[in-house]
Amino acid sequence: MTVRSLLSITVFSWAAALSAQITAIRAGQLVDPATGTTARDQVILVEGGKIKAIGPAVEIPPKARVIDLSNRTVLPGLFDVHTHLCLGIRTQGGNGLNELLRSLLAATAIETDAYRAIQGVANAREMLRAGFTTVRDVGNAGNYADTALRRAVEDGLVPGPTIVNAGRIITPYGGQYHGLPPTRADIAQPEYLYADSPDEMRKAVRENIAFGATVIKIVVDDQPYLYSVDDVKTLVKEAAAGGLKVAAHCATDTGARIAAEGGVASVEHAYRATTPTLEVMKSKGTFLVGTDFTKQAAHEMGMDEYHGWVVDRLKRAYAVGVPVAYGTDVVFEMPGETRGTLSIEFVTSFDEAGVSPKQILQAMTVNAARLLGMDKERGAIAPGYFADIVATADNPLEKIDAVRHVSFVMKNGQVVRSD
Ligand SMILES: [Zn+2]
Repeated sequence: MTVRSLLSITVFSWAAALSAQITAIRAGQLVDPATGTTARDQVILVEGGKIKAIGPAVEIPPKARVIDLSNRTVLPGLFDVHTHLCLGIRTQGGNGLNELLRSLLAATAIETDAYRAIQGVANAREMLRAGFTTVRDVGNAGNYADTALRRAVEDGLVPGPTIVNAGRIITPYGGQYHGLPPTRADIAQPEYLYADSPDEMRKAVRENIAFGATVIKIVVDDQPYLYSVDDVKTLVKEAAAGGLKVAAHCATDTGARIAAEGGVASVEHAYRATTPTLEVMKSKGTFLVGTDFTKQAAHEMGMDEYHGWVVDRLKRAYAVGVPVAYGTDVVFEMPGETRGTLSIEFVTSFDEAGVSPKQILQAMTVNAARLLGMDKERGAIAPGYFADIVATADNPLEKIDAVRHVSFVMKNGQVVRSD
């Protein structure tokens, strides 16, 4: 037998064995965010990418691969429902909003789609390593670099979380670039997809779906022309006809209220939403995805005052009872940090707002899964669910900071990190 044939048999058998492989995880502590409880000494059986059985006395088949996490805390894979994987900006460390807008222009209007797809690959890998097994990527990906990234992850070409992607962000004329020069009005496209009339809105949604968007992202405000409640309803209805939900960028209180009344699935940012607006969101079942900047993140973005605003708004949102899903909006880069480490750090803003570890974990798992319409398949460790599992040294239900040090990650039953 030649070396070559031996090798091919080895590879073939390994692949066949892997598909039929049963994995047994011994979990010293198993956290259920939905109930906020911890079970001790559990066995999780994983087969074909999904969870088959869980319990203290589950029998481990003799041929199963055993992963020993008996000295760790095991919990469902985490979600970040507001990412921009194909965007990275180099800020000058807190030089204010004008500097941020200049950096944003350089990173979007000038950077190539090819480079941005590669940025997406790097960021997807780092998000997964930090424990985020699912992300919702809300646009700013040039001409559908995010669709390419989602496909590459699904095809197994590159490691990354399960991705729900928005394609091009639908906005009133001008997008989010303030002070666009009339001689270069075209530079905001293809980054943004302008839609001003109801017909343009319907067409924009259809165009996004045709090019692989799996969620629709709209900008309601952030410029002189706000979408009206009727506009939002038009967009939500057309997205729903294509089976998609709508995420709405709302920088202002008025925008957040319009978006909620128009029936979007989630209001993004709502940095300074008033309590009456939060009450409208609660009554409509609208998720708050607060992108709650840490002090440092706010500084990097030139938005220092935003940290205090979001902590105060988080406090009020939880007091009102608005459903909250964890989303970060990290687009800046910092030496020694990754997109993953910067994104997981946002739990500290929740902590500062007095949100309990149980509630924070719910925002990062079950709530986020519900927002994405995935709550029957991800966001929990339960039989029939995809095996998206992470582990930490300490129990995050006791101190949330523990999630910042994920040491084991499994996605769809495949181990992507174990240290
Ligand atoms: Zn964003």
